Amino acid sequence: MPKAKETGAASAPAKKTAGRRSYRSYGKIKPAPGKSKAEPKPIKVSFLGGLNEVGKNMTLFEYGEDMFLVDCGLAFPDQDMLGVDLVLPDFTYVERNADRIRGIVITHGHEDHIGGLPYLLKVLNVPVYGTKLTIGLIQGKLREHGLLNSASLNVINPGDVITLGGFTVEAIHVNHSIPDALGLAIRCEGGTIVHTGDFKIDTTPIDGGMMDLGRLAEIGQEGVLCLMSDSTNAERPGFTESERKVGESFETLFRKAGNNRIIVATFSSNIHRVQQIMNVAASLGRKVALVGRSLENVVSISAELGYLNIPEGIVIDINMINRYPADKLVIITTGSQGEPMSALTRMAFSDHRKVEIHPNDYVIISATPIPGNEKTVSRVVNELMKLGADVVYEKMYEVHVSGHA
Ligand SMILES: [Zn+2]
Repeated sequence: MPKAKETGAASAPAKKTAGRRSYRSYGKIKPAPGKSKAEPKPIKVSFLGGLNEVGKNMTLFEYGEDMFLVDCGLAFPDQDMLGVDLVLPDFTYVERNADRIRGIVITHGHEDHIGGLPYLLKVLNVPVYGTKLTIGLIQGKLREHGLLNSASLNVINPGDVITLGGFTVEAIHVNHSIPDALGLAIRCEGGTIVHTGDFKIDTTPIDGGMMDLGRLAEIGQEGVLCLMSDSTNAERPGFTESERKVGESFETLFRKAGNNRIIVATFSSNIHRVQQIMNVAASLGRKVALVGRSLENVVSISAELGYLNIPEGIVIDINMINRYPADKLVIITTGSQGEPMSALTRMAFSDHRKVEIHPNDYVIISATPIPGNEKTVSRVVNELMKLGADVVYEKMYEVHVSGHA
């Protein structure tokens, strides 16, 4: 999910340098007794993307001669970027310092955190670290780019500490809208920086346990120089509901759908959401068909790695949907953002080869438009309604909760 980071603890004024990057020095910390007497150097943090924007998250940490990266995402083009398929961070500074980069740590498997990785690894083949699911999703991507054999992919678990030159990086379990997400405690002689990654605090998560607030508290006691926190939705008062809440809404809505065919659009990477849709479908005796390449990919990878528990015999091939009555079917599809080429958009414009929208369709858009996508989403909703379908989206029922705190 998108995010922008804030460096709330930065007290030193931002020092502008040439180009688009800005560097911040995080003060001087006295070395601990018994440790090196050398004066600690400033830690430099450069945001190559993801700050003050939604997408292409990429951050460079620098201490002395050592550098490492956190995340390498892509952004999707705005509607006015005609002819542009995807937007990448500017790698120039990274390329120039290629011999100083010790590795790249990936916080989670969302496109805006891993999507740029194949393009980076083509110019800079450094070791990549991430949790099992994150690495699984990266493998799928690298295979498409023919990079799978040359890349150095390393699976880490929450609690693991990896050494990257003069840095150590500790992985901390956080909740988010994709399983296996991490926050990071980054340490060097200059001090400790906590990078939360994208996170929410879910006290009743579907799987994987609650975010490790205890460990964060311990690190806080040790002393933290700077907290870099996900700030998506920071302007909204209150807190984000548990993912479990959406499951309850599905129960209600699936019953409300009566004899109609149910179509649910969601982010393909929201595996816990897909799990809940499958569970409710199974409990009501409906089969599930998947539409959209990214959804099929993520479902197969996450089922293989044990992150998705597909009820026995529930998934049917999309080519088989016409053999089942409407009230025995749930179709899960991509396109919850109204992306022009996505399956749901094609369905809405009667342009999908396999799914035709009828007045007996009950469409649930289980997502909220990413800022900037409101127009395309409402266009899709309008078209679906013109075809006679019932359409349910976030404003009407709790069919979505955010992945951010
Ligand atoms: Zn995310």
